[in-house]
Amino acid sequence: MRIEEENIPEYLQSVIRTIPDFPKAGIQYKDITTLLADKKALKLTTLALSDPFISKHIDVVVGLESRGFLFGTNMAAVLDAAFVPVRKPGKLPAEVISESYELEYGTDNVEMHKDAIRSGAKVVIHDDLIATGGTAAAATKLVERLGGEVIGYSFIIELSYLHGREKLKKVPVESILTL
Ligand code: AMP
Repeated sequence: MRIEEENIPEYLQSVIRTIPDFPKAGIQYKDITTLLADKKALKLTTLALSDPFISKHIDVVVGLESRGFLFGTNMAAVLDAAFVPVRKPGKLPAEVISESYELEYGTDNVEMHKDAIRSGAKVVIHDDLIATGGTAAAATKLVERLGGEVIGYSFIIELSYLHGREKLKKVPVESILTL
């Protein structure tokens, strides 16, 4: 399948399901299980996410729990890079570093294995969706504490009205669908 053959954003938008009021009232939840269940969308999404970073010599794709693991691993394989997960507290078994970030009410934490990234590694941070940008910003701090260099961000969906990219570093922020 050649990437130029498709109007990718239009096609992917058609296979992403919006569930109103999930997990709570007022949230328009973007469900990508319907995208994953469509084999053409699965391949196109992997290629479209990877495309901006081909020949950028990426060492590591960092994927954010949990839907960032799905395409983050695919991207790493396409880009000839490694994959590192950022997880919610208590999930990673070896020694971790941790960062907290603000939620609407209270704070949350994310963790990464302390030995996951070598100093100087070129990193792309990936998640399925950027909303407020808090999770990706916390992941940036984890990467930088280990000496990694964040050279870009990658999302399937960007909720641009929440201005999440303003919390991120001034490097390319690539999203397939901007809503
Ligand atoms: P944020 O830290 O606010 O950018 O939130 C990003 C995380 O929350 C991602 O892991 C998303 O999967 C999830 N998320 C936030 N809003 C939505 C939404 N409307 N639909 C699906 N996932 C969402």
